[in-house]
Amino acid sequence: MKCRRCTAKAVVQLRSHNAAFCRECFVFVFQRTVERSIDHERMFTRDERILVAVSGGKDSLALWDTLAALGYATEGLYLGLGIGRYSSASQRKAEGYAAKAGLRLHVVQLADESDAVGVPEAAAFTHRQPCAACGTMKRHHFDRAALAGGFPVLATGHNLDDEAARLLGNVLHWQLPYLAKQQPVLAPSHAKFVRKVRPLYRTSEYESATYAFLRGIDYVVEECPNSHGATQLIYKDLMNRLEAAMPGTKHSFVTEFLRRAHPLFAAAPEGSLGECERCGMPASSALCGYCRLIAEIERRRGEAVAHS
Ligand code: SF4
Ligand SMILES: [Zn+2]
Ligand SMILES: [Zn+2]
Repeated sequence: MKCRRCTAKAVVQLRSHNAAFCRECFVFVFQRTVERSIDHERMFTRDERILVAVSGGKDSLALWDTLAALGYATEGLYLGLGIGRYSSASQRKAEGYAAKAGLRLHVVQLADESDAVGVPEAAAFTHRQPCAACGTMKRHHFDRAALAGGFPVLATGHNLDDEAARLLGNVLHWQLPYLAKQQPVLAPSHAKFVRKVRPLYRTSEYESATYAFLRGIDYVVEECPNSHGATQLIYKDLMNRLEAAMPGTKHSFVTEFLRRAHPLFAAAPEGSLGECERCGMPASSALCGYCRLIAEIERRRGEAVAHS
């Protein structure tokens, strides 16, 4: 099999693109696809500082590597979620990549914050799914770190598979507010929020993994223990089956939604946000989602002590 671009021996085959590439051309095409997504969606410019949320996994490190290679001004943010061995292994990979690439990485440990609560504890105290508690905590700390560091943009490594699975879940349950917000660029809805972007929204998980491998990026292979049984994985599995039978399905599902359907959902007016009484971050009620979670944990901790 020959490379579509240069006719050298191909090492990667992309069924969804009906094409194969050699190492150099795959890396070039991946970076160009990301650059086109950034330009097409007007995500950011080379004059803006970008905070990249890195988990130590293939997607976020492939994203950081690509943005750095394309000449964007980036710094990384690693959030220590307190999920045992998985968290320590992923932190080592994020730090290892940053040191090797000579890029600046900010590390925030949930355990060191004033609330001192990690994801497992938050989930156990509130009887929430770990991923639901984790999502609330991540959003809060990403927003705070971007604001504190004066970054106008926060980039995350969500890929095409993530976007397709999220879209499927939102459509199956007709989550209209979530459908309105499902887009690769989310403009800030409050002065304390920053622009949130997903530059990998058109490249698949397989492509990120291949890119990371071909670039020699050492990423954490082990999955978060909480990912097993997560609803998102069921949607991903369904999308993978559709993709196997009809290559290109994920791509057209997401891109055609954005082109044709998203404007219909985005038309609904959004309520304005105030500020959280506890932490000062944007909130739709007296407390933001994160502080409501912390308040619930504190209440249940108090009840547990009272009954002991
Ligand atoms: S799988 Fe769930 S708990 Fe684990 S990092 Fe992802 S969102 Fe957080
Ligand atoms: Zn080639
Ligand atoms: Zn708050």
